[in-house]
Amino acid sequence: MVTKSIIGEEALALGAMMAGVRFVTGYPGTPSKGIFKALQEFSPTLPHPVYFHWATNEKVALELAVGATLAGMPSLVCVKSVGANVLLDALMTVNLTGVPSPLVIALGDDPSAWVSQNEQDSRWLALMSELPLLEPTRIEDAAEIMHAAFQLSAKLNLPVIVRFTRSFALTRKEILKASLQPVTFNHSNSLPSIASGGNAITLHARLQERLKFAEQWTNDFKFNRKKGDSAIVVMAVGPCVEKVGEVLNLLSRQSQRFDAAFLELATSFPLPRRWLLDNLAGKTVALVIEEGMPFVEMQLRALLQEARQPIAVRGKLTGDLPSVGELTLRQIGKALRNFLPMPSEIVNQLPDPQRQQGFTLKFCDGCPYPPFLDQLIRTAQGMGVKLVVSANPGCAIVAIGEPYQLVQIKHSMGGSVNLVASIAKFEHAPNRRYIALVGDSDFFHSAFNGIVNAVWWKAPMGLVILDNGGAAFTGGQPHPGSGFNASNEFTRPIQIERLLSALDIPVQVVSSRDNENLSAAIKWLLDYGDEIRALILREPCPFVPVWTQEGLKPLKTGGKIVGE
Ligand code: SF4
Repeated sequence: MVTKSIIGEEALALGAMMAGVRFVTGYPGTPSKGIFKALQEFSPTLPHPVYFHWATNEKVALELAVGATLAGMPSLVCVKSVGANVLLDALMTVNLTGVPSPLVIALGDDPSAWVSQNEQDSRWLALMSELPLLEPTRIEDAAEIMHAAFQLSAKLNLPVIVRFTRSFALTRKEILKASLQPVTFNHSNSLPSIASGGNAITLHARLQERLKFAEQWTNDFKFNRKKGDSAIVVMAVGPCVEKVGEVLNLLSRQSQRFDAAFLELATSFPLPRRWLLDNLAGKTVALVIEEGMPFVEMQLRALLQEARQPIAVRGKLTGDLPSVGELTLRQIGKALRNFLPMPSEIVNQLPDPQRQQGFTLKFCDGCPYPPFLDQLIRTAQGMGVKLVVSANPGCAIVAIGEPYQLVQIKHSMGGSVNLVASIAKFEHAPNRRYIALVGDSDFFHSAFNGIVNAVWWKAPMGLVILDNGGAAFTGGQPHPGSGFNASNEFTRPIQIERLLSALDIPVQVVSSRDNENLSAAIKWLLDYGDEIRALILREPCPFVPVWTQEGLKPLKTGGKIVGE
């Protein structure tokens, strides 16, 4: 028996590879970037080319992927939770037009917000877009479930969402080496691809017909599993199957036995209604264990009420499980204890790692940011002005915490310019300086739109573009200014200063290590008066690859990157 040690993200990548994916895109984020990376590593062994592209943002990525399916390329989009919000606009159109070749969206949620600004449950987007949603249950089945998502997409001519969590992405297991055939599909009639008022109702009705077919498919999906028989049912959804399995393992080592039936659910939308009603008939209690919000629990309640089945559905809505934070093994153990007798001392020994609240991230050794931040604070003090500073997701968020405590506003990607522009416009206090920190990847993601708007709106403010050569926080993935692409080929770097100059924004470029000029450049920035000024702080992050005589490589390897 040939086995392989693998983490969840790699298993999902294997499934996409076996399904025959030809185009992989997305925007770097955790979790999900690992699927992209694993596919890059697997692809040289394939007999056909696979094209990789980190897009400037998630909406761009989805639209590129849809275009690729029109050209007959099975495609995969890798995004994290908050990134799914950005692609929603495109998703709410492609659900109607459909896709002529398979398209899967690998969507990584981050319960407890380990590396995100929120812990949103992105599964609601499947309900909103009326698109099928699979949740891989076990690492050893993840590749096949991803493969099945491509198959379902080919059958329905619809995008399929595969949702997983950060802990699932990082869980390592030994799996059997599998070999699956590439998904076949009939790529004809790819055009026209039009959604508009003139056909939206017709397309919406077609989408709902396709969803009925998807429901039939889920009823027979082999990864929706049942074990045991009892009046008490424990239903683990997607990544919680791994966690419940671990809890049961740990408890059984303490000689605990459980009189319960266990359901594993891999299809969260549409629900396998017939399969659920068959397996819940005559039961008294169903405890739903899921990561995020009561997404399945609410759907199950509605299903059982419609079917007039008097089964008590328990879970997050009933307080058996917490409604915030990632589920820990102890929390799951405590929920099981509400139905299955076991001593509390044993349950209290289960692991209970909590995400501590607070801002404790530190800049990596050799980071180019600290000299700039120190100088910014000193210069503002010297000028007798107070700074109002906003930042976006990325390394600049480190300046929220000690010792800087400089960033007072931080929302989502691209937001810093808009938030500061508005405060600057309406408050415009003479002793304050309004500064938006913009990461370089963030600049291309969506901040540029806000900059154009701020110029148009005549918002007086300072822009600081932290140009460190790539998406440093997530591991140094390239952007249009990096000079290379996801295939590590040279590309002409798009120069941020030229884009800003085209907007008539006065710009200076300085290195954070240029002691001689840094102070004067910051003073110039803070003297922006009634206009917008921009300072580009250009210094490569030591973890971002740069071109050297030996090719593309980072200045520093090893060590933990701040956002990982
Ligand atoms: S990843 Fe690079 S830019 Fe970010 S904190 Fe570390 S050294 Fe600085």
